[in-house]
Amino acid sequence: MTTGSNRIKHVVIAGGGSAGWLTAGVIAADHCAASDSGLQVTLIESPDVGPIGVGEGTWPTMRDTLRRIGVSESDFLRECDASFKQGSRFNGWRDGQDGDYYFHPFVLPHGYTETNLVAGWLQRHANVPFADLVSFQPHLCVQNKAPKQVATPEYAAVANYAYHLDAGKFGVFLRKHCTERLGVRLVLDHVVGIESHPNGDIAALQTRSQGPLVADLFVDCTGLQSLLLGRHYQTPFVSQKHVLFNDSALALQVPYPDDNSPIASQTISTAQSSGWIWDIGLPTRRGIGHVYSSAHISDDQAEAELRRYVERVAGAAGQANGGTPRKLTFEPGYRQHFWHRNCVAIGLSAGFIEPLEASALALVELSAMTLSDQMPATREAMDLVARRFNDSFTYRWERVIDFLKLHYVLSQRRTSAFWRDNVAPASVPDRLRELLVLWRHQPPSRYDLHRIEEVFPSASYQYVLYGMGFRPEPAVATRRADDCDRADAFFREAAALTGKMLAALPSNRELLTHIRRRA
Ligand SMILES: Cc1cc2nc3c(=O)[nH]c(=O)nc-3n(C[C@H](O)[C@H](O)[C@H](O)COP(=O)(O)OP(=O)(O)OC[C@H]3O[C@@H](n4cnc5c(N)ncnc54)[C@H](O)[C@@H]3O)c2cc1C
Repeated sequence: MTTGSNRIKHVVIAGGGSAGWLTAGVIAADHCAASDSGLQVTLIESPDVGPIGVGEGTWPTMRDTLRRIGVSESDFLRECDASFKQGSRFNGWRDGQDGDYYFHPFVLPHGYTETNLVAGWLQRHANVPFADLVSFQPHLCVQNKAPKQVATPEYAAVANYAYHLDAGKFGVFLRKHCTERLGVRLVLDHVVGIESHPNGDIAALQTRSQGPLVADLFVDCTGLQSLLLGRHYQTPFVSQKHVLFNDSALALQVPYPDDNSPIASQTISTAQSSGWIWDIGLPTRRGIGHVYSSAHISDDQAEAELRRYVERVAGAAGQANGGTPRKLTFEPGYRQHFWHRNCVAIGLSAGFIEPLEASALALVELSAMTLSDQMPATREAMDLVARRFNDSFTYRWERVIDFLKLHYVLSQRRTSAFWRDNVAPASVPDRLRELLVLWRHQPPSRYDLHRIEEVFPSASYQYVLYGMGFRPEPAVATRRADDCDRADAFFREAAALTGKMLAALPSNRELLTHIRRRA
């Protein structure tokens, strides 16, 4: 039985960006913050420091998260200028030649858990891109199709999907939902200091005008400043700059030529001389940005590449109306641990790696769910939960880094120092190197990645590996799972599904217009 004064009754979240509000929403919904008997949840947000305002690509997990906190999907789509995302398209990553592109869709390969599709693909269809053969989703993306029909219920999918969203509007939307519906108390004030208990726990956050904010557990969502975990506790930062070189970004908002322009169903990532450009379609505009390594290219050169891209995809009008790019800098890496004493960091305060697979918000969701599910009942229980949390999330950060590096390691581009440096053995994590040896003889399988809630499933490794041109060595002996006739049956089913879906699904623009008008 939990008794006494060391019970966890009040959680304070410092920071009101996407991380702060998602965490507040998950904890408040799960722990009944709106009722007198629930956990008390307070969020403090500075009137002086705005949220970072970027972060437009999400994962399908966001559907579960929004549903879990009681958000209406239609309201979310309308108020956050959100659109549907069905995966990523990588342009020019393999060798930069004409026709160099591939998809990493959200849908698993058709028949993935049933047989070895890779053997069937290589033996009979090696001239067809892997993802195009095993999944209907790339074909939907090429035609800018929505992942569901007008009559499909909220959050349900015909084709697995996530969202693209306006990060600024998302924060405002979540704040309204959390404070009006979930019982989260908002304090608008600036944190100016931290008061400690004799044992080193945080006792209270000192605010500029409203006195101390006392709580039992503090969540650091203060962004790159990492005020609690980083600055107060001096938790070391584990830099990953030697693995993933990108540390700068230039972000633009580019208008569509007209109101009926197609809305892309996937994030488009186009390789550049020393980084890559993201291109995200929202209903009212595109978000386009260049992520690059400051050690390999100057800001002016990066901006010139960005402008050339915008001119190519959006014409001179898009170029003229896109305005001045916003510059952001970051150190790629993560904290040595994320939960220390009675303080846990979620979001940019825990770490950040370039947004190549939009993994940051997904890690925020996973952190918030883990914290909420394993919310310690007492201070005594906290250190054990913290240890387990740190172990899980260190593992997850390492897997994110492996997976992003995979894109660079497999590239044949050698036209600039950036791409050449990316294949230097010293820049490749040991575990990734081992997996690449393993995958010379067998396709990535779920037995290679064995944790529950792996950030990237083995199917994602297959999409990137084979999309990037990696080919395993011929099999030395046949296995039962290498049955090409069986694989062929799945390929035929995938093709039939493609035909049916292309005929039945509206375009992204049509479905979003319908939802926005239904208000
Ligand atoms: C270029 C770029 C592109 C990205 N693209 C993606 C993407 O496509 N997908 C994705 O998932 N993620 C992406 N991210 C990451 C994503 O933006 C963040 O993970 C997400 O926005 C969460 O940010 P945050 O809430 O941790 O921090 P922030 O948004 O920076 O919020 C920090 C909060 O702390 C508060 N604060 C700070 N100091 C104080 C103080 N002294 N007192 C009180 N409050 C304070 C501020 O008021 C603010 O509310 C991208 C990041 C960058 C840099």
